[in-house]
Amino acid sequence: MKIGFIGLGIMGKPMSKNLIKAGYKLVVYDLNKEAMEELKALGAETAESNLDIAKQCDVVITMLPNSPQVEEVVLGKGGLIEGLRPGTALIDMSSIAPLSSRKIYAALKEKGVDMLDAPVSGGEPKAIDGTLAVMVGGDKEVFDKYYDIIKAMAASVVYVGESGAGNVAKLCNQVVVAINIAAVSEALILAKKAGVSPDLVYQAIRGGLAGSTVMDAKAPMIMDRNFKPGFRINLHIKDLNNVLETSHSVGAPLPLTAQVMEIMQALKVDGYEAEDHASIAKFYEKLANTQITRQ
Ligand code: NAD
Repeated sequence: MKIGFIGLGIMGKPMSKNLIKAGYKLVVYDLNKEAMEELKALGAETAESNLDIAKQCDVVITMLPNSPQVEEVVLGKGGLIEGLRPGTALIDMSSIAPLSSRKIYAALKEKGVDMLDAPVSGGEPKAIDGTLAVMVGGDKEVFDKYYDIIKAMAASVVYVGESGAGNVAKLCNQVVVAINIAAVSEALILAKKAGVSPDLVYQAIRGGLAGSTVMDAKAPMIMDRNFKPGFRINLHIKDLNNVLETSHSVGAPLPLTAQVMEIMQALKVDGYEAEDHASIAKFYEKLANTQITRQ
């Protein structure tokens, strides 16, 4: 089976490397030629365009920024839809709006091409380790057919429901992560201003009810002043836009998510949009006029 992989960024590059490691034959494409060369050195073929990928592959994986890019790559001029044959499939692992997933699913279905929306959680470290959490929407038999490919990049792969359900799950994930980073930031700024070591507070509470994967990933980054992405503020703003648009349309008010969205907007104004979302702590540091460090 020949797999096409489009989008070799922070996430797509390590994910595609894990597919090569698992023994799959890969053809890659990205606007960034350097990223393609890196994969070529590991044994992947490189393609001339998205359409070139579609014409030669049995299944194509996309890992692109957001709905407009995925729609352009799949449905736009010279898009995958022009080259994919009936019986082939698209597995879109980008985090995009559920409505956009459903639109692409329907357009491909008319051509006899299957589609799964299969966004991921876990960030760059888990993409590198091949231990991502993947949440999948689409037809169940299509999920079963491509499970092994997805599992080569992941520790957990869960079928959530029909087309778009994977991206609904991802939006839920982003709500929890955003509010959790804000909560960790509030706790650490309190420790700092109260004259207690943020690091010792972190060590003291991480094993109790307050502990979380988010706390373990982000508290050390904040205390060590490491805001290298990871997951950029501007991508999280993109996700929260999709969250709030979806939540408003289904009648689910999300007041805390809206608050964190405004915190992220303030960080963007301050020039932090390309930093890791651990930078949420900087909003609180500005309010409290201090910096969260280990001591
Ligand atoms: P990224 O910006 O690092 O990578 C995107 C890649 O897509 C880039 O290499 C870019 O050149 C390529 N690209 C854009 N338009 C293209 C086109 N028309 N044709 C070919 N290639 C094109 O982003 P990322 O951090 O890897 O995120 C990708 C997706 O995964 C996003 O939806 C993001 O929300 C999601 N995600 C990211 C993380 C994370 O921690 N970075 C975690 C979970 C999910």
